[in-house]
Amino acid sequence: MEKQSIRFRQNTSSSSSWVRGACIGRGCFGTVSTAVRRSDGGIFAVKSVDLATCLPSQAESLENEIAVIRSIEPHPYVVGFIGDDVSKEGTASFRNLHIEYLPGSDVASASNGIDEALLRRYTWCLVSALRHVHSHGIVHCDVKAANALFGHDRSSVKLADFGSAIRFCGGESTALITPRGSPLWMAPEVIRREYQGPESDVWSLGCTVIEIFTGKPAWEDRGLDSLIRIGFSDQLPVIPAGLSELGRDFLDKCLSKDPSLRWSCDQLLKHPFLSRDHCSPSSESSPRCVLDWVKSEYEQYDGEEDTGPRSEPGVSAMARICNLGATGGTNWESDGWVEVRGPQRIKEYPNRPRVNAESNTCQEVEDSSEWQSRNFNNLGAAATDVGRPENAGPSAVLRELLFMEFLAVENIHICSKSFVDVIHIYRNYRDNNNKNQIFFLLHVIRWGQKT
Ligand code: ATP
Repeated sequence: MEKQSIRFRQNTSSSSSWVRGACIGRGCFGTVSTAVRRSDGGIFAVKSVDLATCLPSQAESLENEIAVIRSIEPHPYVVGFIGDDVSKEGTASFRNLHIEYLPGSDVASASNGIDEALLRRYTWCLVSALRHVHSHGIVHCDVKAANALFGHDRSSVKLADFGSAIRFCGGESTALITPRGSPLWMAPEVIRREYQGPESDVWSLGCTVIEIFTGKPAWEDRGLDSLIRIGFSDQLPVIPAGLSELGRDFLDKCLSKDPSLRWSCDQLLKHPFLSRDHCSPSSESSPRCVLDWVKSEYEQYDGEEDTGPRSEPGVSAMARICNLGATGGTNWESDGWVEVRGPQRIKEYPNRPRVNAESNTCQEVEDSSEWQSRNFNNLGAAATDVGRPENAGPSAVLRELLFMEFLAVENIHICSKSFVDVIHIYRNYRDNNNKNQIFFLLHVIRWGQKT
């Protein structure tokens, strides 16, 4: 099923080599439209940000995505890179990433759960894609069903959205990392801000497999509680009841709390759940409509291994060496908005287990006012020192989480598309301890994000 018919409106730039079509998707970090090349009528997708009005984090994320995706050799299950440019359209200037057009929508919005045969096939595509990405020294950081787009028919899926990806630079470090990705899919070590590497993608893959099978995220979205469960408890996502023993074992290999015990993508590809007979989409089916003919050069790949460097006119090898010191923000909710609790949820708090910042243990708190004043005081203290390098470590992370909880109890909402914004607000609070300033900042961010 196609998401949308293609309508083209004239690009006002007469010098442009392509014409922008209808908007087909909107994410936190950009707008995706169809586009047609003037030279041969070829259709592709273009992800754009308006350079005059976008937030710095949106422009950074798109630059990051361009650098990452152009550095990856073509692969049948990774969305194909075509090029990038800046277009002048009317009075506006857009930074654009050109990628292969996939008309079939993303797996998250298309599925309410699927059977296991198809699940195995899609999982095989995603593991192959991830293995390829990891072999280029890149961590995707945002593996989820919304970033798996259907191929030209529904027998395969392709990994998309490299806006959060990073170049992996191994090695031990005690510095806290900035988590990247979508929280409910994040690995425990990412939530604890210790490490984000290929193993973390494998955890997210496990969550995505559950999500594709059931049609729902692996973790129920209970805000801070979910993060504490993922990052600071022994709990694991519930394995769906209808899944075979092989499927359960496969998830077991992905969803170990200890990243060093998780299987690599190489190992996962050899797991019997992904045996090639069942999983490899043997061939794409015949085209059923004109759009099925819109195959890009990236479809030339027919094996599991790389076929060698692609020839890409105008893009030098040096240009492909990416500069990945990106600071793109984290997508804190599945729809991309950070929200620290709405008022309807505040009442739930007093009866739920709490995390004590000092002891790192959970405790039940019966009395709401006592709980609030205790935590307010804890946070007042925590807020003066959280985020400072000398206070890095698990308890610092917990204090940051408590800060979030404090905002909730105080009925302060944060709606932002960027984790960086939240940290900014937090630091402002820490340094100034002034609630009015928080409100002011929230207003600015809301305006900035929504207009
Ligand atoms: P997110 O908020 O998930 O971080 P984003 O701003 O990084 O999103 P994408 O996820 O890359 O943007 O794209 C947004 C939507 O645009 C996707 O969910 C999908 O529906 C559509 N889309 C993206 N790439 C393509 C493509 N190559 N072909 C067709 N549709 C696409």
